[in-house]
Amino acid sequence: MKKIAIVGGGPVGLACAAWLLEKTPGAHLDLYDRLPESNDEIKNGDSRSIAVSQGSHLLLKNIGAWPNNSPAIHKIHVSHRGHFGRAIVRREELQQEALGHIVQYAEIHLSIRQALQKISKNAPNFRWHYSQKIDKLDKSSLADMVIHAEGGLFKQQEWQEIYRDYEQAAIVGWVKTDRINQHLAWERFTEEGPLALLPSHKGHEYLNLVWCGDPNATQKRLELFSENPATFLIELQKAFGTRAGHFIEAGELKSYELGLNARKEIVQGHEVWIGNAAQTMHPVAGQGLNLGLRDAHTLAESIASCASVHEALNHNQELRKTDRNATIASTDFLARIFTSQLKPVICARGIALSSLQILSPMKQSLTRQMMFGQR
Ligand SMILES: Cc1cc2nc3c(=O)[nH]c(=O)nc-3n(C[C@H](O)[C@H](O)[C@H](O)COP(=O)(O)OP(=O)(O)OC[C@H]3O[C@@H](n4cnc5c(N)ncnc54)[C@H](O)[C@@H]3O)c2cc1C
Repeated sequence: MKKIAIVGGGPVGLACAAWLLEKTPGAHLDLYDRLPESNDEIKNGDSRSIAVSQGSHLLLKNIGAWPNNSPAIHKIHVSHRGHFGRAIVRREELQQEALGHIVQYAEIHLSIRQALQKISKNAPNFRWHYSQKIDKLDKSSLADMVIHAEGGLFKQQEWQEIYRDYEQAAIVGWVKTDRINQHLAWERFTEEGPLALLPSHKGHEYLNLVWCGDPNATQKRLELFSENPATFLIELQKAFGTRAGHFIEAGELKSYELGLNARKEIVQGHEVWIGNAAQTMHPVAGQGLNLGLRDAHTLAESIASCASVHEALNHNQELRKTDRNATIASTDFLARIFTSQLKPVICARGIALSSLQILSPMKQSLTRQMMFGQR
């Protein structure tokens, strides 16, 4: 029986273990998790909001790993500040219960961990190594197949072959408005980068903020918030406009540097990379975790259905090519096109947004790709 090791107990590594053990309870699997057995550190961890697609929602629900407090998105409004053109996507057009959901990183991390804790009770050959950070040198000799799920944030990772620094950072946190924005997500492109307002677990008058901009300007905005929150809200209102109402309060602001850092090949010998360990992307299209979960699910299926490590990894490599390439390329395109100041590009993106609104099949196909990946 092949021995498998997963390095990294983030959402993607944990989900991979859960899907694998669900399909093959007898699998000889070792999971190396940096965190201790207690869930306290996760509960008090990263509160950034993550847009989880309907595809990921269904995959996680199947293993009982769906967090309770996860407001649904029924409508997405996309616009470009100071220019013509906008697009609206509604759940009815795609005949889906929701276009996606918003979860907090800490909550989804915890719910996948708890699902794995349950599933692993029926897995006699599974060993969960808590509080274990495996060194680079030790990793490849851990098992017959080594799955890298070490994740990480842009600029905290080693550089890979596909690397682009967008010179952008994002402020994430929440804002309170004087209007109810139930089930509504806003994505507004500005000259500095996208500004998204998403449904919040805190209630209908709250929105989760993801404000991407120049790193120096972002730093100044954070300083402004701590010195004078009212002026920060005025600046935010100027950048977004009044469509979602007037901003009256903001909180839990934090910043992240943004970029693209991806491997060309996800398989090398008996090792395979999934999630952010394979590709870290700009959050503009909300695709990082969703793509990572699809990486994990396909790999678990390949392992369960193939006789040898070699066959499973080759099969997985083939299956992941199209979705991975399409998602990385479309995210990179979106991250760059809306910040370009070239006149023809400004004009083209206005036309693109308007035509997207008019050409319903094109809009549906794009949205489906974001929701379920490229199959
Ligand atoms: C501002 C922002 C907004 C985002 N918004 C979205 C969104 O809306 N939708 C979306 O889909 N994605 C979004 N993402 C991306 C998403 O957060 C990531 O894609 C996702 O967290 C990747 O999960 P992961 O498990 O691969 O990696 P991680 O979440 O980084 O987890 C990896 C884990 O492995 C552990 N580890 C690392 N090295 C070792 C080692 N040597 N040994 C043992 N353990 C190790 C780490 O401590 C960590 O716990 C966003 C990202 C940012 C920064």
